[in-house]
Amino acid sequence: MPDTVDTIYALSSGAGKAGIAVVRVSGPLAGVAVQVSCGRLPGARRAERLSVKISQGTVKLDEAIVLWFPGPNSFTGEDVVELHVHGSVAVIEKLTTALYGFGLRQAEAGEFTRRAFENGKIDLTEAEGLADLIDAETESQHKQAVRQMDGGLRVIYEGWKQHLLNALAQIEGEIDFPDEEDVPDNLSNKALPYLNLVLEGTEQILKTAEAGEAIRHGLDIVIIGRPNSGKSTILNAILKRDAAIVSSIAGTTRDIISVNIVLSGIPVRLSDTAGIRNTSNEIEVEGIDRALKLSKEADIVIHVIDITDNKTIENIDKRISKDDIIVYNKNDTSKSMDIPKRNEHSNEIRISALKDHDIDRLKEMLEKIISHKYNIGNEPTLTRVRHKNCVSDVFLSTTRAINCLNKSPELAGDDIRSALYALEELAGASDIESVFDLIFSRFCIGK
Ligand code: GDP
Repeated sequence: MPDTVDTIYALSSGAGKAGIAVVRVSGPLAGVAVQVSCGRLPGARRAERLSVKISQGTVKLDEAIVLWFPGPNSFTGEDVVELHVHGSVAVIEKLTTALYGFGLRQAEAGEFTRRAFENGKIDLTEAEGLADLIDAETESQHKQAVRQMDGGLRVIYEGWKQHLLNALAQIEGEIDFPDEEDVPDNLSNKALPYLNLVLEGTEQILKTAEAGEAIRHGLDIVIIGRPNSGKSTILNAILKRDAAIVSSIAGTTRDIISVNIVLSGIPVRLSDTAGIRNTSNEIEVEGIDRALKLSKEADIVIHVIDITDNKTIENIDKRISKDDIIVYNKNDTSKSMDIPKRNEHSNEIRISALKDHDIDRLKEMLEKIISHKYNIGNEPTLTRVRHKNCVSDVFLSTTRAINCLNKSPELAGDDIRSALYALEELAGASDIESVFDLIFSRFCIGK
């Protein structure tokens, strides 16, 4: 933190006309600015109705509810004031101009949260949770973000930190006061249980990383199959509206059409792709390449097979992974091919997209797969690659420490210190400006 801290202000509620607007001020001049414009400060952490005046108290601007949070017991840890004025563009404009006139400056995006972090009010994982909460659009995103914002991850890694420190104390005790006879035994007896707890904890939570990130970013579900198998009709039937062009002319969908939906509380990007077939048409070839690439990267692939088309009796098994779905479409027709028996894990369903038969069952099947694969339960999850990398480092360093505990206590001590360093990085204690900039700049102004 710089020695002299600026006092910052920003409109913390949404821009534009509204019933109420909240202007937040944080920094050493916050109290003075409000005393001058409102005549006095309200009681600490109490809401009071005050008249706001500008132009040296000569012009009444508005009636406001004012809240005064003297530091360090505030969101940022500094003196903070919230002015709840009427959400008028003119009021906000005049109020912020007056604050600027007091020598305050407009906050940058995420600057309030950054100050909270820099003043030790929250750690980096909690700041990230707060960012996720603001961005949350679905139930599972909301649940995950609140848990992280409330310090769910912090509580866990602070537990690991304590275990690592306990293990280190045992090792250092043995190094400083070696008793030649029983050093190895003592170390494994005393330090190992702590290290094992860290190992178990990190291993457990690393399993949540895929689900945690999927919930934050959303899932990719791709519909793939031969031309005319009914992919676009299926997409439209799932959406109950026409998003993709349905045509009996093969090769109509040449680019990817993606729509956003929510399944099992998780945001999903559902994509219709170009039909896969041998063709010399350049544009269609490009579409097919894109379709295949997208399906490789997808979380779940819906393979569509037209049961009236004998050419689809091809071996697609090798492309199907556990959570994919095989959809046998056009079940309303009498022409029907023999459906090969597949392994018991595959999810298969017969539908008629055209007649809207069993589309709901297809959706239920998708929801079941999603909630099973991305079931986050009530435990905290790792939601970012950054978390995963730090926790993996803790896991690996702890494993190394266990492996050399008896052979070389000094090296085990070094490994434990590496694990502690990785934990500090997770909390944001190490000064990595670029990481901070990336995280805080994604907040809106006023947060
Ligand atoms: P895509 O090329 O795989 O996207 O296939 P489309 O969705 O464009 O459908 C190709 C043709 O098959 C269109 O004429 C659709 O009306 C028809 N079709 C799609 N689904 C069904 C179905 O369930 N039953 C029948 N009988 N025809 C269908």
